[in-house]
Amino acid sequence: MRNHVIIIGGGPAGLALAGRLADTAARVTIVERQPIDALADPAPDGRDIALTHRSVAILKALGAWDLIPRGEIHPLRAARVLNGRSLLALTFAPDAADSDRLGHLVANHLIRRALFDALADHPRLAWQCGATVVELGARREGTRVVLDDGTQIGGDLIVGADSRFSFVRDQLGIAADCTRLGKSMLVCRVAHDMDHGGVATEWFDHGQTVALLPLGEGQSSAVLTLADGAAKQVAALSPDRLGEELTRRFHRRFGTMRVIARPHVYPLTTTWSRHFAATRAALIGDAAVGMHPVTAHGFNLGLSGVERLGGLLAAAIARGGDVGHPLLLRRFEAGHRAATLPLYRTTNMIVRLFTDERPLARATRDVAMGLGARLPPVRRAVSAMLTQHAPRGGRLRLPPLPRLR
Ligand SMILES: Cc1cc2nc3c(=O)[nH]c(=O)nc-3n(C[C@H](O)[C@H](O)[C@H](O)COP(=O)(O)OP(=O)(O)OC[C@H]3O[C@@H](n4cnc5c(N)ncnc54)[C@H](O)[C@@H]3O)c2cc1C
Repeated sequence: MRNHVIIIGGGPAGLALAGRLADTAARVTIVERQPIDALADPAPDGRDIALTHRSVAILKALGAWDLIPRGEIHPLRAARVLNGRSLLALTFAPDAADSDRLGHLVANHLIRRALFDALADHPRLAWQCGATVVELGARREGTRVVLDDGTQIGGDLIVGADSRFSFVRDQLGIAADCTRLGKSMLVCRVAHDMDHGGVATEWFDHGQTVALLPLGEGQSSAVLTLADGAAKQVAALSPDRLGEELTRRFHRRFGTMRVIARPHVYPLTTTWSRHFAATRAALIGDAAVGMHPVTAHGFNLGLSGVERLGGLLAAAIARGGDVGHPLLLRRFEAGHRAATLPLYRTTNMIVRLFTDERPLARATRDVAMGLGARLPPVRRAVSAMLTQHAPRGGRLRLPPLPRLR
């Protein structure tokens, strides 16, 4: 029986896979460079994650969903996309017959905490925290991981869950397409006067992209995408000045904005690994696919990879097989690439089209918005892809769009 799985990276994807394997006969070691206290009580990082219904189902199965405080789960009733000063809004709403929401919004640190809490006392999990992987080898006979304190761990499968700048991927010799966009995303919780109605607003304005993700009553996560330097400058403003700046940049659509948590800035890089598997090794989460956050799918795709790889590993373990069997890894790779590539490509296309300031690009997006608004099947198909739900008939009534002031 060959079933020692070494997961490198204790971020949300790595923790979710550990959770998926916890009730199998596998031995699982999690290697994470942050100390265990930082996993047990992660600091807020400003990200509010839009979770699809499918992701919520996976988190429920892992026992993590019920560990998130109810008051911290916010319904995402619909999403609205705006283009420059155009009054045309493209709206994505769930099918009324199906659900009253597109998904849920939860702070990233609360998801991480819940995933950790669901695992913390598990007897078959070994934790190597506060340790960085400095070398690894994966051959047909087995795997070897070397930590910065000299510890060596032998196993049967290495899983790289160590972020979009994956060291594991580099060590395995897997190439990746990395695009540094020269832009950064500033995220910051704000209170505001106008009701958001549970609707997320994404606004591709000239020279900036702004988004508002609805949280509690009168509160949202404001998301501002600017050139790298400009985003850092805005983040350095005092809370009062930042509130004024955000109010101005949102054109007072939601009234006066007041900052209620410190801002965080994320430089934007997309990554696509040329392979998701190698000899006795697999990549999951951002290490496999590093999405642009605009379509809010990085972690959702990460969880679908966990579900796919975890299911194949659990089946192999149950029949006494080898977790590093090449056919298993090939099946994971083929399935996960087919599931992620359309969304990865579509997201990058949306970003290119909606942030291009040239006249032809502006005209093209006006046409694209018009088509989407006038042809409900097109809108439903896009909505289905974004929510990973089959499209059906019926629509929810949305609150009116706040006017530009
Ligand atoms: C602003 C923003 C908004 C987002 N919004 C959404 C959203 O709405 N919906 C959505 O689905 N996704 C969203 N995402 C994406 C989501 O946050 C990521 O996809 C997710 O966090 C990736 O998880 P991960 O576990 O793969 O990687 P990470 O969270 O990057 O974790 C990797 C872990 O590996 C550890 N590590 C790295 N190298 C080593 C090493 N050599 N040795 C040991 N440990 C190592 C790190 O310390 C870290 O803990 C957003 C991202 C951003 C930036």
